[in-house]
This record gives sequence, C-alpha cells and structure tokens, in this order.
Amino acid sequence: MQIKTIGVIGAGQMGNGIAHVCALAGFDVSLNDISAERIEAGLATINGNLARQVASGRISEDQRNAVLASIRATENLEDLADADLIIESAVEDEDIKRQIFAKLAPIVKDSVILASNTSSISITRLAAATLHPEQFIGIHFMNPVPVMELVELVRGIATDDATFTAVREFVSELGKTIAVSEDFPAFMVNRILLPMINEAIYTLYEGVGTVEAIDTAMRLGANHPMGPLQLADFIGLDTCLSIMQVLYEGLADTKYRPCPLLVKYVEAGWLGRKTQRGFYDYRGETPVPTR
Ligand code: NAD
Repeated sequence: MQIKTIGVIGAGQMGNGIAHVCALAGFDVSLNDISAERIEAGLATINGNLARQVASGRISEDQRNAVLASIRATENLEDLADADLIIESAVEDEDIKRQIFAKLAPIVKDSVILASNTSSISITRLAAATLHPEQFIGIHFMNPVPVMELVELVRGIATDDATFTAVREFVSELGKTIAVSEDFPAFMVNRILLPMINEAIYTLYEGVGTVEAIDTAMRLGANHPMGPLQLADFIGLDTCLSIMQVLYEGLADTKYRPCPLLVKYVEAGWLGRKTQRGFYDYRGETPVPTR
C-alpha cells in the first residue's frame, strides 16, 4: 500500500513537529486540533522551526514555502477523509484518544492506517477500540521531532505485516531511523531513560548530591549531552511522573516506584521548563538550581 496523504491529529509540540517532517518529506498533510487558536499556534511553531532550518542552511527558502503550502490546517476531522495514514498525537489521555478513533470510524477510508504517537498507552488496547486493529500501529516520535533521528515502531498484538511494512517505508522516507519495540509499558527508550531520571531524583532526595553535582557527574562522567535533572525539566516533570506510574502499574515491580520528590515537584506545579521552574529556575538569565 502506498502512503501519500497524512492526517495529524493534535497540533501541540509533537503534532506540529510530525506535520513539519511529513511535509518536508513531500507528503500532503492535514493538521487537526480542537480550536483555530491551537492550530494557529502549531503553524506558528512550524514556521519558526522552518526559519531556523533555513538560517542554518539545512533547507532552502523554496523548501520552506513548499512545506507551508502542503500543510492544510483544519478543525474538522471530516477533512481527513482522504488520508492514507492518520497519526494521532493529541493529549496523553486514553479516553480522549478513544473518542478520536471512534469519531474517525465513519469518516476514513477502509484502507486507512491509524497510528498513535502515545508515549505510554498500550497500542493493543487502543487498536481494540478501532474497526480494524490489524491496521493500527504505534509510531513513537521523539521530541523535538524535526531534530531527533529515532522513531520507535510499536506493533500491537493484531498489527498485520502489510501495515507494519507500509509504515516502516513511510518512516524511512522521513529520513528517520527505526527501532522496533514490542507493545509493553513505555516501550524501549522511556523504559530505560525514565528509571535513570527517577534514580537521579532519588540521588537528590537522599542528599547524595546537589542538582548541579548530579548533572555535572552524568554529563562529564557518562558523557551524556544533558544532565538527568536538566533533561527531566526539558521533558516535563508531569510527563516523567506519568511514565513512571505507567511502568510501576504496568510491570507491577517496586523498582519503578516514582520518587516522592518528583511527586512533590509536580504537586507544586513546578513542571520544568514549561512552567519556568523545576529542578532549575528558568525565570532569570541563566537557570538556577532549586535545591
Ligand atoms: P501537547 O499538550 O503539546 O499537545 C496536545 C494537543 O492535542 C493540544 O494542542 C490539544 O489541543 C490537542 N487535542 C486535545 N484533544 C484533542 C482532540 N480531541 N482532537 C484534536 N486535538 C486535540 O502534547 P504533546 O507533547 O504534543 O503530546 C502529544 C502526544 O505525543 C501524547 O500522546 C504524548 O504522550 C506523545 N509524546 C510526547 C512526547 C514529548 O516529549 N512531549 C514525546 C513522544 C510522544
């Protein structure tokens, strides 16, 4: 099956990035969200990211214009009727995702492949809420989408070979590298990364080191480009907590228990960069550790 037209649902930080890379690879894209303001914000981010790519010489001005011309913004799911592949990237809420797939059912073509960019929800369970679970797959992009090279492909229990092969080909056309994961909690990257971040927070909680000492240790001692606490702030502490909860509940192993200090930061509304405060305070010129 040939994928030419893509529908992207959700124009937030991931959805607008997915629309960006699809359009840049030559696909026609329909970008959907619940309000004109959300879509406008998503398009503005795409525009800004394209400008940065032009400024650094990675793409030409003509490519930028072509990308903007091939993204059709829409508040109506009906406009996704001609899509060959629909990638859902709305908020990480299973009920909302299920409602979206239910609304799509009478609209889409019979051959459509439905995908979710979920970070943690079971692909098999989401697929079961659709008419054709064999045409359902997880396409897990990394943040920020235009920059990060990896895509995890997650097969649900029912995903058929034709769907898997078509989507693998599509992701290769985006210039991304694929790692195939079975459908288990948090897949591979987050299964490995989040317990490390959680352990860094325990290291802080137990007073083994300060925020700065822990981040310096991992940057210079393990050659990580960012310290784990800096990375946690970048991901969002609410997202970190929800992934740890998925691991803890989904694998029923106490080794995944979320650190109480992470819970406390989330309860305080200190969610990292997006709220200007997390393990660092971003309100001044340079980030200042909060512990
Ligand atoms: P976000 O909050 O930036 O964007 C979510 C968007 O979905 C919002 O614009 C919201 O208006 C929209 N939305 C909500 N309900 C909708 C509906 N019914 N129909 C259409 N749009 C709707 O969130 P995000 O970070 O872009 O995350 C989106 C998905 O990507 C989640 O499933 C998340 O787990 C996954 N993901 C996130 C990351 C990350 O680092 N943030 C990485 C990989 C995957």
